[in-house]
Amino acid sequence: MLAKIEQLLQEVKGLTAQNPEELEALRIKYLSKKGAINALMADFRNVPAEQKKEVGMKLNELKNLAQERIAALKETFENQDNSAAELDLTRTAYPIKLGTRHPLTIVRNEIIDIFGRMGFTIADGPEVEDDWHVFSSMNFPADHPARDMQDTFFIETHPDIILRTHTSSVQSRVMEVSQPPIRVICPGRVYRNEAISYRAHCFFHQVEGLYVDKNVSFTDLKQVLLQFAQEMFGPDTKIRLRPSYFPFTEPSAEMDISCDICGGEGCPFCKYTGWVEILGCGMVDPAVLEANGIDSKVYTGYAFGMGVERITNLKYKVKDLRMFSENDTRFLEEFESAN
Ligand SMILES: [Zn+2]
Repeated sequence: MLAKIEQLLQEVKGLTAQNPEELEALRIKYLSKKGAINALMADFRNVPAEQKKEVGMKLNELKNLAQERIAALKETFENQDNSAAELDLTRTAYPIKLGTRHPLTIVRNEIIDIFGRMGFTIADGPEVEDDWHVFSSMNFPADHPARDMQDTFFIETHPDIILRTHTSSVQSRVMEVSQPPIRVICPGRVYRNEAISYRAHCFFHQVEGLYVDKNVSFTDLKQVLLQFAQEMFGPDTKIRLRPSYFPFTEPSAEMDISCDICGGEGCPFCKYTGWVEILGCGMVDPAVLEANGIDSKVYTGYAFGMGVERITNLKYKVKDLRMFSENDTRFLEEFESAN
């Protein structure tokens, strides 16, 4: 029996297989229930008691060696198999990542939320507009420079049809079909014929607001804008209003907020003034109310308008306006956590 074990040991030491089928044949030959080693195990009870220890040890050595050897061969085949299994042709070429909201969408939604809580509803209108809703109804004189070819995209065959240069056209559309109280915000894309650079683009996004009712005052406007600034940029934010000019408001103002980087001390971001410009606003010019069918002797109103890109720049310190429309995923992924 010892001789038989010794012979099998030598065989097992030299085991090789060319493919999994050969290996399986070897496994059956040595390790299956009817295999050579089991046959020896069955014979073991016939071994004389004084030899049992020596034979038992040899037999175990043989069994362990056969198991190790076959397991090792199996592993080499499995490694080859794995490399083939990884080539799953039904898989897409690379993992599909979930998209994120565009930074302008994130900020626009935030603006809508803030004004929504103050009772403003959303109004919408066409981006391709007529001259009346964009300019005439908004008190732009016939010779106003904004109507010039430099700023406005005209449709060649239809000089009266333009791409809206501001969302004030939506204010006009709301006023012409409704009577006060009117309290709306108009988010939307606008177009201007400007050279594209880091600080200007041929299209950008605005949110304009309009409130018309009896006894609406400049104080109401200031309070609403202060509330907005503090919700958007933090409770310590201060605002200041500087006199300005727009055709559709009288009086008109530009609003600044205290620089949130230096807290008003002065730094490169705010050009050492402590303030950064954020939006334009004013009391709706009575001529605009009248042009849109609202009695200016009974009602007053305020309006304001801001660029979503501008607010996003202030909030996230994006220096180049072009980043917003280039769809560079390295840039867009920075806003994952803001979603
Ligand atoms: Zn500053």
